[in-house]
Order: sequence, then structure tokens, then C-alpha cells
Amino acid sequence: MNEYDSDRIYDLMSGIGFNKTDIKKEADCFVLNTCHIREKATEKVYHEIGRVKKNFRNSKKPIVIISGCVAQAESEEMIKREPYIDMVIGPQSYHQITDLILQYQRKKQKFNATEFDVVKKFDKLEKISNSQNKISSYLTIQEGCDKFCHFCVVPYTRGPEYSRPFKQIIEEAHNLISNGSKEIILLGQNVNAYNFSSNNKQYKLSSLINELNRIDNLKRIRFTTSHPKDMTEDLIACYDNCEKLMPFLHLPVQSGSNQILASMNRKHDRDYYLSVVKKLKVIRKNIKISSDFIVGYPGETEKDFNDTINLIEEIGFVNSYSFIFSPRPGTPAAIKKTNSLIESKKRLKKMQSILENIQIEYNKSYLNQYCEVLVENKLTNQEKYFGRTKYMIPVIFDANNCKPGELIKVKITSFNRNNLFGSYNSYKIKAA
Ligand code: SF4
Repeated sequence: MNEYDSDRIYDLMSGIGFNKTDIKKEADCFVLNTCHIREKATEKVYHEIGRVKKNFRNSKKPIVIISGCVAQAESEEMIKREPYIDMVIGPQSYHQITDLILQYQRKKQKFNATEFDVVKKFDKLEKISNSQNKISSYLTIQEGCDKFCHFCVVPYTRGPEYSRPFKQIIEEAHNLISNGSKEIILLGQNVNAYNFSSNNKQYKLSSLINELNRIDNLKRIRFTTSHPKDMTEDLIACYDNCEKLMPFLHLPVQSGSNQILASMNRKHDRDYYLSVVKKLKVIRKNIKISSDFIVGYPGETEKDFNDTINLIEEIGFVNSYSFIFSPRPGTPAAIKKTNSLIESKKRLKKMQSILENIQIEYNKSYLNQYCEVLVENKLTNQEKYFGRTKYMIPVIFDANNCKPGELIKVKITSFNRNNLFGSYNSYKIKAA
């Protein structure tokens, strides 16, 4: 979502004459769009500002703006602690960035804009065309979360659930497709909680997917990130009705232990999660699931951990993320007694090795097979191209005759844990 927000911040700023530069030392304005999910996010921001200060030691100071979830969480504390920062702008207030810059240029007055102004934000963004011209584009449809998992800061930094108007989203999708996008990834912190009503009609994520599925020039549809509780029957049915919806779903479970799921306030248990995956597999046999896992959550016993390992082996998750629990200030889990770090590291190592083996075995199954790839770009200074499979696996391949945006069949000749490698022999297939 930060990538989407960064692009939209750029769209706004280009309206008042700013252009992107790769030469940091030449920047007149430095925007650091931050994420609060990772550990020590706040400290990393101050380190980065230290580097900016050093770069500009002998030249005119740029306007320094901290946006995103760290800005929201830390608010004006940031300006007090580091006076080199000129503005702090939360993720629901970045539509104000151009007005604030113009005011700053006039009055040199520092700003802290961290109110939850999400309706106004999307109303303003609607008027500014989304300039992304990527083959695969993100499109935010929903923000915030009402689930309040005990380890997570999102409900505090992004605010309550908000769903954008259906029509606004479809217009933005058409705009992206006319700019060349062939794949749209619908985004939200809790994307499958999307729920918008207008004129007595209710629109859900399934309504959006069905509508996008009808657009001729669009080849692939994805959505992320989902909560198991919001995998409703109408959404599951999309895997049957919508051939452009890719057979790959990121569905975080976090733990395979009922005791830990309850302690995390996840609002689902292991059996419920398994029942959702079963339904999906009945309706789309080739579907693959990826997940996030937290290891060493407060109170996690050896048995709880083994329950998670069993679940991983039962489902065969591909391409998943796993982390040791680290407390986020202000969340209920932050005041719980933490587990032994040595034990948690041991468990993480075991889990990652199992996940890695599943991934390697899965990638191996592509060897010598033809695999459908959406071509995204040509690699710089090489006769090689980059694309992704239906399952989001990156593919790097030789080809002398293909174009970004094409769906082609690449013969896979080698692999590693994260990538497939192959060649394209101009045997084209139709869009899925
Ligand atoms: S559902 Fe996701 S975004 Fe919401 S609180 Fe839980 S982990 Fe955070």
C-alpha cells in the first residue's frame, strides 16, 4: 500500500511542479513515506534523516517530509526530536501535501497533519489521474481495519475500515488499463472487508472482481491482504466465475494454535481457517495459499508451535512470510511477558527451513514445463525479460521477441527458492 501511496503522492506533487529525481543531492524536497509494521521503524526514519542531513551539509536544505504510518504514530514528536523535519503527514492526510508545501514555502511554518481524513483524501485523489503506467498496478479500494489483532498497529495508524466508492474504483481501474496495465492488484489492509453501499445497493469485493473480470484489456486480477473471517461465499465463488482472478491467495493465519489465535484476538480458529482453504480448493483445484506467521508470540508453547508446523505441512503454504514476535507500542500484546528470544530464534529457523523446502519443491515442479508468464519489463542492459507466473513467482527469461504486457509461455530450465529461469520460444497463448 505504501507503494501505491508513494505513487499518488508523486501524482499530487507533480501538479505543483515537482519531478522525481534519482540524484538525492539535487532534491528540493525529500519525502520519506514510512511503514510501521517492521521492527524499529521509527529509529530507521531518524537514521535516514541523519543521512539526508549529511548529504545536504554543504548545500541548501530540502523540505523534509515524513509521511505514512510512522508519521501517524509519532506525530509532532518527530518534529520536536529532529528539527530538520519540516512536516509530518499521516497516511490519511497526504492529499494535503501540496497545500502544506505551498504554505511552507510562503511562511516557513512546520506542519503536523495526522487527522483521519480518508473520505476527503479519496475525493481529492479522484480528481488527479493515477499516472502509474506499470503492467501490474496496485489500486487501493479499502483502508483501515476494525479487527484489532492484539499485535497490530494498523487500526491505530490507518484508522477504522473505510471502503472507497465502487464507481471511483472502477474509473481508476479503467484509467490504469488505458495507461497500459494488464494486471490490477486490489489493495486494502483488510481488502476482503470491502463494503460500499449506494442507492440501496451493496457492493463487496466480489462485485469489484466481477466488474473487472469483464474488462477486455485486463488480463489478471489479484487482491491483498485478506482476513480469513471475510472470505465470504460470494468471494469464494469468484474463483469459479472469474477466470481472470489468479489462483493464488495470501491469507494470513499467523498461528496454527487455537490458544494463540485466541490470545492474538484473530477472531477465527484453526478449523475455520482450514474450512475456508478447503472450500477454495474445491472450487479452484490449482489454488495455492501463502501466509504470514508470527513465531514466539507471548505464551507460545512448544505444542502451540508444533500446531503451526502441522498446519504448514497440511496446507503446503507457498511463498510465506515469518517473523519473531516483536511488540508494537500501544498494542495489547506489547505489555505481555515476552518469550525467550533464543527459543523463538530456534523455532523461526525450523519454520523457515520447512517453508523453504516447500517452496523449493514447488518451484522444482516447474522444471522443463511451459509456464504462463505476464511479461512486465526487459532487464536493463540485458537480453532478458522479467515477468510473473499466475502464482506471483518471478521469472527471468531469455527472449528475442516479446513485449511487456504479453501473456506468454516460458519454458522453465532452472530455479532457485525465489525465482524461475527459462526461455521463450515465441509460442503464444491466449489471455487467461
Ligand atoms: S486484521 Fe490485519 S490489519 Fe487488521 S488488526 Fe489484524 S493483522 Fe492488523
